[in-house]
Amino acid sequence: MTVMRGELLALRAGHVFDGVDVRQSGMVLIEDGVILDVDFTGAAPPEHASVTDFGPDAWLLPGLIDAHVHLCWDGSKEAVAHVSSDGHETVLETARASAAATLTTGVTTVRDLGDRDYLTLALRDQMPPTQRPDIVAAGPPITTRGGHCHFLGGEAEGADALRAAVREHAERGCDVVKVMASGGAMTPGSDSLQQQYDRSDLRLIVDEAHRRGLTAAAHAHAVPAIADVVDADFDTIEHFSFMTPDGVGLRQDLVDEVVRRETFVSVTVGMLPSGAPLPPPVAARIAEFWDVVAKVIASGARVVPGTDSGISPDKPHGVYPHALSQLTELGMPPRAVLRSATSEAAKAVGRAGRKGVVRPSADADLLVLGSSPIDDISAVTDIHAVYRAGHRVR
Ligand SMILES: [Zn+2]
Repeated sequence: MTVMRGELLALRAGHVFDGVDVRQSGMVLIEDGVILDVDFTGAAPPEHASVTDFGPDAWLLPGLIDAHVHLCWDGSKEAVAHVSSDGHETVLETARASAAATLTTGVTTVRDLGDRDYLTLALRDQMPPTQRPDIVAAGPPITTRGGHCHFLGGEAEGADALRAAVREHAERGCDVVKVMASGGAMTPGSDSLQQQYDRSDLRLIVDEAHRRGLTAAAHAHAVPAIADVVDADFDTIEHFSFMTPDGVGLRQDLVDEVVRRETFVSVTVGMLPSGAPLPPPVAARIAEFWDVVAKVIASGARVVPGTDSGISPDKPHGVYPHALSQLTELGMPPRAVLRSATSEAAKAVGRAGRKGVVRPSADADLLVLGSSPIDDISAVTDIHAVYRAGHRVR
């Protein structure tokens, strides 16, 4: 193996999940926060490398990716009130704590799908990368006047205003545009069953986002809203819950179309086992919703884990391991869950190749476990080490 200059780390582990497959007896070389090389030949580490051997039982994998979080939301019963009326410094303090709590669970990349006033961009500037996950930021979600999460600051209606909103998100440095295609349960006066935009508005948002190099994510609960966002070809669809006035009504034709288009579905699973009561429209449908997710998984859709962490007490920052367990309970084998949490999620959030893989030139965001997550997905909580940009943070 070539001898490198500078500070070189060599990590050894009995098992390596590289984002796609499992390999045995790996050594990962890291320099300047990036993976330099990955060796499975049993070669000795370079002479000047600083070596950490985690042992034959250890599993080394890419840092995990949460495709749907809200760092500015504090996960309390009053999360909406706090995020909508607290001062910028207070919200930033919440976001700092959220980011730190998330990183210790081995989640090294998050896609924030709804901050207030672009505060996650400020967080990204102020907080050292080694103290937080990498943040793929949406800024405030685009929504209608008085619509779902309007209090975050992203209201826009009509073609000109929508174009201007996407432009502003791009110019400020967002990576993704999030649009509220239907109403949602968190916002007083909003109705998950109502559509907020028509098909041409949604297409305009996707086209404008792509033209400016951003990805596009759509929040969609209501069946007609789901039909429109599938048609508009969003990169990811959030929730995908098929809500109807009577409950939940899966439209298999729309699931089939999502499979055909290879659209990512970011199902917001994962909650603490004994959380606070759910919002009534959600509580009434939850069992049927899990059934929908199981069918979406069985249909072969590209499901990635997002948690919606921060929105309520049963979804605190750090809830992510529960999302992975739940995906296995809903029929996804552990190996597929790990792929969806790493290499697949990296593609979904626009970080393919850099995140979610243990390969040369990927960022050295890594997780080391004490036992096999393939045998039992709950091993993701048996954490021996977390690396972010080549720094050991746990
Ligand atoms: Zn959300």
